[in-house]
Amino acid sequence: MTFDTVLMVDWSGGNDRGPTPKKDAIWVCAARGGVVEEPVYLRNRAVAEDWIAKFLETERIAGHRILAGFDFAFGYPAGFGQVLTGSDDPFAIWDWFATRVEDTPQSNNRFDLAGQINAMFPGVGPFWGNGLKRDIVGLPRKGSDRKGHQMPERRRAEEQASGAFPVWQLSGAGAVGGQVIMGLPMLARLRERFGASVWPFEPLTADVAIVEIWPSLIRKAVAATQPQGCVKDAHQVWLLAQTISGLNAQDLQALLDSPPNAEGSILGLGHEKMLTQAALGTLAPPPLRNDCFAMPQGAYWTPVDTALAHLKAHLRPVTGTEEMPISDAAGRFLAQDVKAKRAHPPAPNAAVDGYGFAGPVDEGAQVFRLLDGRSAAGQPFPGTVPKGQAIRILTGANLPDGVDTVVLQEDVTADNRQVAFHGPLKRGANARDAGEDMQAGAVIMPAGRRLTPADLATIAATGVGRINLRKRLRVGVLSTGDELRDAGADAGPSYIYDANRPMLCATVRDWGYEAIDLGRAPDVRPILRGMLDDAAGHCDVILTSGGASAGDEDHMSALLEGTGTLALWRMAIKPGRPLALGLWQETPVFGLPGNPVAAMVCTLIFASPALQVLAGGDWCDPQGFMVPAGFSKSKKEGRREYLRARISDGRAAIFASEGSGRVSGLSWATGLVELGDQAQQIAPGDLVKFLPFGSFGK
Ligand code: AMP
Ligand code: MG
Repeated sequence: MTFDTVLMVDWSGGNDRGPTPKKDAIWVCAARGGVVEEPVYLRNRAVAEDWIAKFLETERIAGHRILAGFDFAFGYPAGFGQVLTGSDDPFAIWDWFATRVEDTPQSNNRFDLAGQINAMFPGVGPFWGNGLKRDIVGLPRKGSDRKGHQMPERRRAEEQASGAFPVWQLSGAGAVGGQVIMGLPMLARLRERFGASVWPFEPLTADVAIVEIWPSLIRKAVAATQPQGCVKDAHQVWLLAQTISGLNAQDLQALLDSPPNAEGSILGLGHEKMLTQAALGTLAPPPLRNDCFAMPQGAYWTPVDTALAHLKAHLRPVTGTEEMPISDAAGRFLAQDVKAKRAHPPAPNAAVDGYGFAGPVDEGAQVFRLLDGRSAAGQPFPGTVPKGQAIRILTGANLPDGVDTVVLQEDVTADNRQVAFHGPLKRGANARDAGEDMQAGAVIMPAGRRLTPADLATIAATGVGRINLRKRLRVGVLSTGDELRDAGADAGPSYIYDANRPMLCATVRDWGYEAIDLGRAPDVRPILRGMLDDAAGHCDVILTSGGASAGDEDHMSALLEGTGTLALWRMAIKPGRPLALGLWQETPVFGLPGNPVAAMVCTLIFASPALQVLAGGDWCDPQGFMVPAGFSKSKKEGRREYLRARISDGRAAIFASEGSGRVSGLSWATGLVELGDQAQQIAPGDLVKFLPFGSFGK
């Protein structure tokens, strides 16, 4: 089941709260597809009912399905309706209140009604908490003055929801009884006017679905995310609207899957953890600082290490988090430390097939009497093995009581009564201790780690099935230049084919991110601007190539300049040209050189560690190794050089031409030889650093 629009309402049983937004008034908030609007303050119930009805009407005209949540009980404990209305139909209670509640912004008759209802019950109660100065016949001021009314104190929902108040209490801190009485008439009218379906009383077939909510179900997420100075009621409806409208269909269905019940229930009850995670995960982290790429500019070209240190110091994750089953987690970044749910192994067990007994065993020939039965993996022996006796045991089987040592079956002679072997054997030989691998509660995987297939085994072994991950980083890839055409199209010799986009998209995908192909922009500033505007809305980071220098046709750097965030990095690197870094509407942009070889080298050296941090991972330098050079070269001082290279006969061979226009050299190579900033004379056999392509970004 899906809804286009979610509306969350924090209702109130009190009087008009005045024109300035305040707590304990009515707050509403709408969201569509996980995109939330600002919370709206509504000073009293009349204004609120009017606003909600207009909202539902507008949404309905637009053809939208709407889920509207209200934060008060939709029903009373079982049996109440029978006494009040002579029926078990929950809507009969709604109608009962709708015809009798008198409500103005300054006063209402809820306490008198409660007194009248109490008169229908034996004894005193169930309602209590007269909040008025005058006494009301039959409505006690204290809950302890009630007796014999025969109503359960709570609905089943309140029994499950820790901290929820009973519907009978009409006044005092935290009381909710008043807002139920003052809310049901409004719901009855909305239901009739919109033909709405109400959960969990009936199937949600109508365009307007009404559900009961309780923001305290996600109180942890509320507390963790509430901005300073923001009214809590406002933040709660905002967070709930965003969270529920951002749920996938399956998770939403899980919330709604509840058998019909006339007491009503709270949406999300029993799913608090999932909702809390979702609430925390839908919050994108704050944007990067405007000056995150601003590096002090000296008179000289910036050394590569200075630039890398700057990125390392200033970048932070930009993606939100989500809870996922471990089966979908390989290659993703952990957003939270993973702790072992239980020890591994959970109990002492046998490391080999053999015979178990109490150790240690002395030197020399040993004979143990064999006990009937055996212990196998998944089928432990239930009894105790007496001292001096042994039992057949198989690999992975729990050690029975009385067993701490195992002798290998290849080392014994045995019949079905006895087992004989030569000692000595240490206590604990061929046995694994409980928790020897991982202890329950220990952090087994730190936040920021990119999960390998082996990590999934480690996590699974401790019983953890779902983990909190960073959302996959969305990387936009855009090529710029009037001269570019897409490969496959006809193009005269004044055009060149766009080689960067397929290369960069594939690189990004290879690193485990989502590549968003943003196409190709001409050297026309307004068009490029429009494409960046578009991209910023659905990318976490943008890689562009071309136009990144400071010339007339370098529109990327010019546009970033206009945002006030441009940092033009003149790197002491070959191959390379200036890099244009900046933020486009808070989205980081890496303006790479157009030349494919330079674009690739800059992507590997600068973008790969940067993307990893933006994606929620730790900073990672590529893992290179030293190999003898298979070439000679004389290198000048002052810049770092990266040569396209491959390993051949145990030596680093370099591509025949250093010309950076030679794209084919990138394919020929399997990695880069990195030559440091200082001057060097390299002769064949000298050790040089080889960085395999596969060691970047992983
Ligand atoms: P630019 O950085 O825009 O001055 O471009 C530098 C060189 O790279 C020029 O020769 C461009 O034609 C070339 N170039 C730019 N973008 C691409 C691309 N996407 N594919 C292949 N070559 C490109
Ligand atoms: Mg260009």
